[in-house]
Amino acid sequence: MKTIYVLAEHRQQHLRDTTWDALAAGRDLAQKTGAELACLLLGSGVDAMADQLAKECPKVVVVDDPRLANFNSEPFVKTLTGLLAGQDSYVLVIGNSNSIIDLAPGLSVALDAALATDCIGFEVDGGKVKALRQIYSYKVNALVSFKGASRIVATLRSGFFSFAPSGAAPGAIEKVASPLGDEPLRKRFLSYVEAEKGDVDIASADIIVAIGRGIGDEEDLSMFESLADAMGGVVACSRPIVDKGLLPKYRQVGTSGVEVKPKVYLALGISGAFQHLGGIKGNPLIVAVNKDPRAPIFRAAQYGIVANLADVVPALEEKIKELKG
Ligand SMILES: Cc1cc2nc3c(=O)[nH]c(=O)nc-3n(C[C@H](O)[C@H](O)[C@H](O)COP(=O)(O)OP(=O)(O)OC[C@H]3O[C@@H](n4cnc5c(N)ncnc54)[C@H](O)[C@@H]3O)c2cc1C
Repeated sequence: MKTIYVLAEHRQQHLRDTTWDALAAGRDLAQKTGAELACLLLGSGVDAMADQLAKECPKVVVVDDPRLANFNSEPFVKTLTGLLAGQDSYVLVIGNSNSIIDLAPGLSVALDAALATDCIGFEVDGGKVKALRQIYSYKVNALVSFKGASRIVATLRSGFFSFAPSGAAPGAIEKVASPLGDEPLRKRFLSYVEAEKGDVDIASADIIVAIGRGIGDEEDLSMFESLADAMGGVVACSRPIVDKGLLPKYRQVGTSGVEVKPKVYLALGISGAFQHLGGIKGNPLIVAVNKDPRAPIFRAAQYGIVANLADVVPALEEKIKELKG
């Protein structure tokens, strides 16, 4: 591999966490392959973001075009195809978001590149890149090779790559003319709609008591609210709780919900699906209560209690109140 490219994802003039995930994975791959590392930043008026990236990446390629101001897979595919035309030895690493799910398959076809989605790691064997993916509802890890492909697009699963500042000298910023022609786009970005902000902002909470389908048919959430109060935290949830109408969407943690960065995350009756875990950032202390000892949440948790919620939650609250005096 000659080059490891990392696609920078941004929204409302801010780099998204997915960009740092992708840079962490890209940096690791560049070290393992000895390839050059470069970030691709597509947008409009993105100088500040380019500077931010250059602090962590030896090269940042910028395409500045008003048609790239907001994510739209059509001009993004066309621009990336133009940028990478004629190159034949690269891995393009991209984070994980709804925009990327829209972008990556079509992009790999346009680039005539192999595609591996949702990767959780990479190995390099005799100079050949292999991707680690989880299959069968994340029960089996599969190491996949690319059958000799020299152009590879790889998207990542959130939560498996952690970025740390490198402290290296700032990289070069290279501004490239937009390869987008004058032909009209069939897809248009209409507007950015801010997600509903409710009475509680789980994104900024330090202590989260998250409830999942394991609470059963119980509609009275006072037991969990009372525990959260005792802990000085807020109640959040997994998607089934929102689907049941028990809590509003702005309390849902996960890839299609809210990203949270608490210090403590208490997961009650939550199995630990990757879509849920993908919303938990910043390596909090995770404590899980689940009656199934094989629930995947126990792989993410530092402390686990295998028990029925009804037995544990009141006892936990009592103990916390006792300790707090
Ligand atoms: C495109 C897409 C996006 C998604 N986005 C999200 C998202 O943003 N957030 C999200 O949360 N999910 C999301 N999901 C759904 C996700 O795949 C899981 O289905 C969901 O997270 C499961 O929620 P859960 O853990 O509460 O329920 P389950 O997986 O049903 O787990 C319930 C757990 O409770 C335990 N349990 C049962 N009874 C008890 C008891 N009495 N005491 C103790 N433990 C008990 C069980 O052992 C089990 O492990 C998404 C899915 C898709 C396809």
